[in-house]
Amino acid sequence: MPTRRPLILLVPLTLVLLLIIAAVATAAPATPASPAAEGTSATPRWEWPLQPPPPDPAAGLTRGFERPPAPWAAGHRGVDLPAAPGTAVHTAGAGRITFAGIVVDRPLVVVEHAGGLRTSYEPVRPQVEVGDAVAAGERIGSLASGGHCEGCLHWGVRNAAGTYLDPLHLFGTRVQIRLYPLGR
Ligand SMILES: [Zn+2]
Repeated sequence: MPTRRPLILLVPLTLVLLLIIAAVATAAPATPASPAAEGTSATPRWEWPLQPPPPDPAAGLTRGFERPPAPWAAGHRGVDLPAAPGTAVHTAGAGRITFAGIVVDRPLVVVEHAGGLRTSYEPVRPQVEVGDAVAAGERIGSLASGGHCEGCLHWGVRNAAGTYLDPLHLFGTRVQIRLYPLGR
């Protein structure tokens, strides 16, 4: 009976598989779900890139977001946060590092989040590498000098289409409404 032996082996194998599935299912709820794992419909958790966060995000800027009138026109495609070189910089949200290096004359870090949203931080000396998974609020590097403002972190947000958004939108509309007069 050459077919009997595989059948006997099949039973323990099925049991082992069931045990593994049961173990995974039991362990899953104990693991905190990351915003990235929850998909694009879930509201992700966003953290201020510098610690401690200011009581009022809009008041914690040296320059606000200025939407360019056209994609090629001048504007301010992000917000500037005052900080001294060497200050720890944290990713605003969970995601994956898609860039960590030098662009022209300044070091910067780009993180891609669920839904294709990308946040960028400059000038930042990275302590992460491309492909690294990061949790919201995790340190990604230290503020360097240079960039378009001295003693500040330039923080940008782009959507999947590449359009720059006001980073403060991540923290709700209350901040968005308050920011516009400050940005002019
Ligand atoms: Zn800036």
